[in-house]
Amino acid sequence: MDLWDARAAISRGDLSLGELIDSLWERIGVLEETIHAFLSLADPAELKEAETALAETPLRGIPIAVKDNISTLDFPTTCGSRFLERFRPVFDATAVARLKGAGAQVQGKTNLDEFAMGSSTEHSAFGPTRNPHDPERVPGGSSGGSAAAVAAGEAIAALGTDTGGSVRQPAALCGVVGLRPTYGLVSRWGLVAFASSLDQIGPITRSVRDCALILSIIAGHDPRDSTSLPVEPRDYTQDLEGGIEGWKFGLPREYRPRELGPEALALIDRWASAIEELGGEVVEISLPLTEYALPTYYLIASAEASANLARFDGVRYTTVSAEGTTAKEMIAASRTLGFGREVKRRIMLGTFALSAGYYDRYYGKAQRVRTLIAREFAKAFENVDIIFGPTSPTPAFRLGEKEDPIAMYLSDVFTLPSALAGVPAISIPGGKVGGLPFGLQLIAPRLGEGKLLRAAYALEGCLTSETSSDATPLHRGDPQGGMPKAG
Ligand code: GLN
Repeated sequence: MDLWDARAAISRGDLSLGELIDSLWERIGVLEETIHAFLSLADPAELKEAETALAETPLRGIPIAVKDNISTLDFPTTCGSRFLERFRPVFDATAVARLKGAGAQVQGKTNLDEFAMGSSTEHSAFGPTRNPHDPERVPGGSSGGSAAAVAAGEAIAALGTDTGGSVRQPAALCGVVGLRPTYGLVSRWGLVAFASSLDQIGPITRSVRDCALILSIIAGHDPRDSTSLPVEPRDYTQDLEGGIEGWKFGLPREYRPRELGPEALALIDRWASAIEELGGEVVEISLPLTEYALPTYYLIASAEASANLARFDGVRYTTVSAEGTTAKEMIAASRTLGFGREVKRRIMLGTFALSAGYYDRYYGKAQRVRTLIAREFAKAFENVDIIFGPTSPTPAFRLGEKEDPIAMYLSDVFTLPSALAGVPAISIPGGKVGGLPFGLQLIAPRLGEGKLLRAAYALEGCLTSETSSDATPLHRGDPQGGMPKAG
């Protein structure tokens, strides 16, 4: 059952919030020891108490899981780091406050790569999350806990964050839906900053319509985030129907390299035929700057991370170490103990890229290439409505398989370019490769979420009807005609 159907069943009286919570906790009881999707969990009895108070709200008290780098008043916010193990925010992030305002409750906080740096959730200081489709494999990352919880049926929907792919790639690897909104559409207030010019909060759900529903609640201007766009709230569930007849879909040659292997290539061809069956047109396009996205991203994201993570001095937020006789020694001791290897690597890389003498050569140049990548997308969208391709080059890989950081970074080759360009993108289940979920990524122009969701909804209907042996079948229930307003 997706959030949409659960909400409808509760409002019809066919399901009580208590029953829903019991069924989620039943899954948690069976699977969580293996999956380890959560870092903290609500008390189900407390969640049930809200049943009557939230009965008339749009989300009817339904619990939603939240990635643990998004601030929450009632739970710790660890960012998967020893540094913040005991940190408790004194406010809710805007996205969380808006979900609560619509009647949702926070189910718990989900595991992630430390400070969202990674693609496998193996870099969490609190142990990895495992993929519900095969526990020997990673769920992707960095929002691996959110994606695994939704795929395992431990959560009905979740929030993740996407800096360079961290919503879309784990959604792809776990066989669920993940949306990265246009940069600035969802407030970053309360999201612990990794790379501020790239970070976006986005939903991870069991269906496209759930993404539309959650986006409608969390999107919109927030005066507390200076990069928040001045856009009016909008009901994206109204965009779902209508289909893609006459729409032009661009498949970049660079997103279909031969190295993907025959099974993935055949699946991409299948997507192209599905688009054509639905009345769309598929054209080959080229995004030649794709190969520069990875170095550009790692320079910019690391540079911003080195600045953002400077605030962790072991005095503010939490005390990590009291060693040393000077402030400098104590800060060094705290940072040595508090941060994991990947985070230290990024801080060093970023500090280097920003240092005098190298700034122009590395950071400045990366910024200029970023502008060219954004222009390349804008130009491509003059000729096509939607760009599509795989979300990730491979399905879920084994834990420990990618020890070389570059090998890990390559998991995001197809998600980094659109992140740098600031355009919205969604990953939906696209079928299987090697018996594991393989994600179809759709990319739209800036603020094109309506179109993006409509295309994703049409293709989801077409592709999931073929793969209905899936562990999490998606049935088209009665579309309720949009999002009910609070009573
Ligand atoms: N995997 C990428 C990285 O390690 C993206 C992470 C993210 O989007 N948070 O930076």
